[in-house]
Amino acid sequence: MENNKANQEFQSDFLSVAQAREAIAQFVIQTRKLAKVEGKRELLPLNQCAGRILAQDVLSPINVPVSDNSAMDGYAFHSSELQANGGEIQLKVVATLHAGQTQALAVKKGECIKIMTGAVMPPTCDTVVPQEFTKSLDKTSISFASNTVKAGENRRLCGEDLKQGKAAIEQGRILRPADLGLAASLGIAQLEVFQRIKVAVISSGNELSEITEQLQAGKIYDSNRYSLHACLERLGFEIMDCGIVRDTPEELRKAFCSAAEKADVIISSGGVSVGEADFTKQIMDELGDVGFWKIAMRPGRPMAFGSLKPIGSKSHPTVFFGLPGNPVAVMVTFYQFVRNALLELNGAKNPQVPLISVQSADPIRKKSGRTEFQRGILFRNPDGKLLVKTTGSQGAGILRSMSEANCFIILHHDQGNINPGDWVDVEIFDGLL
Ligand code: AMP
Ligand code: MG
Repeated sequence: MENNKANQEFQSDFLSVAQAREAIAQFVIQTRKLAKVEGKRELLPLNQCAGRILAQDVLSPINVPVSDNSAMDGYAFHSSELQANGGEIQLKVVATLHAGQTQALAVKKGECIKIMTGAVMPPTCDTVVPQEFTKSLDKTSISFASNTVKAGENRRLCGEDLKQGKAAIEQGRILRPADLGLAASLGIAQLEVFQRIKVAVISSGNELSEITEQLQAGKIYDSNRYSLHACLERLGFEIMDCGIVRDTPEELRKAFCSAAEKADVIISSGGVSVGEADFTKQIMDELGDVGFWKIAMRPGRPMAFGSLKPIGSKSHPTVFFGLPGNPVAVMVTFYQFVRNALLELNGAKNPQVPLISVQSADPIRKKSGRTEFQRGILFRNPDGKLLVKTTGSQGAGILRSMSEANCFIILHHDQGNINPGDWVDVEIFDGLL
């Protein structure tokens, strides 16, 4: 329904960024149901799982920790000593326990066991006094003040991190290093992940030249294929490089048919702006169901989106994103519309990147009624305060602005001019993990 609404509006007017996102999200849900694109799974050893999308819930086969153990280096004893003595407590050290060892010895009244972090708690002990709170009286006994520790302290309980049978990692998670460490800590050697979807990349334009060729008059190097390739590689998709396609119906038809036969998704750049899109439109009308959108945003106004019919032996349609040609607009539309759609299509849950709010260092001119994705630099001023500034000139063709930036400054649809000190939303390019 939303899809239809969005399509109607685009025909007479501009779509807002929110409407375009909603239309894409609805379409992705439908496509996943129809095509089961994300359905194919594979079992991989942990060392090959980083960045892959988990296709199963991982249930913990064990309690974590597997038994009560000490959280500190110190002395394990029974808490009844605390009540019994008050004031200063003296205990005889009857054994030493290192991590990895167990001790069946029952500690009697007035006794304790020297214990290292991670060592299993001896059966009759429930409390650990940290080493630094104790005094050595002689070689075999220690003392400490009763109020330095409470009953049950400095002991990790069996199953307190994770109970046996509970979900440790949920399906749809994009696996990060900690997830793989967690799986390993549970003794799980392999995980079921979704097979990577295959994404075809096409550059369209008569003016484009391969980077290996001598640049002829009037031509420019095709840079979009390289930035898109890297965007896709970082997200872990399988990539099909379909090269440069000239703006003729024959070439476009051939390129799109051949890509649609093999790929789950096609991303093209160029050839969707008004006046230029005629050929692309003509071919898309033949091959599938694609809307040509004008989006109230900057950069990246024109965009085509839809699906191409199954071709050859393929049983499901191919999702199509026709991005604008401008090198910055390509990256902005990729990250603002395509990234999440591809991850969700591949089975990821909640792949959104968080927005954070920071104060702008400078004034920024902004027209209400469109969303702007300015290239920003997050920095700390001499007082240590986190601020954001733009990279300067924001033309859609200035790829250096993307290269220099470390974040998008997102100026929302209804926002107007920004004054220094105003709060703005930013999306940071690099994550830690
Ligand atoms: P278009 O959307 O095809 O009208 O292209 C808009 C602008 O982006 C034009 O200046 C194109 O020359 C440029 N452009 C289109 N495709 C590419 C590409 N693959 N690499 C670099 N620039 C491009
Ligand atoms: Mg063009």
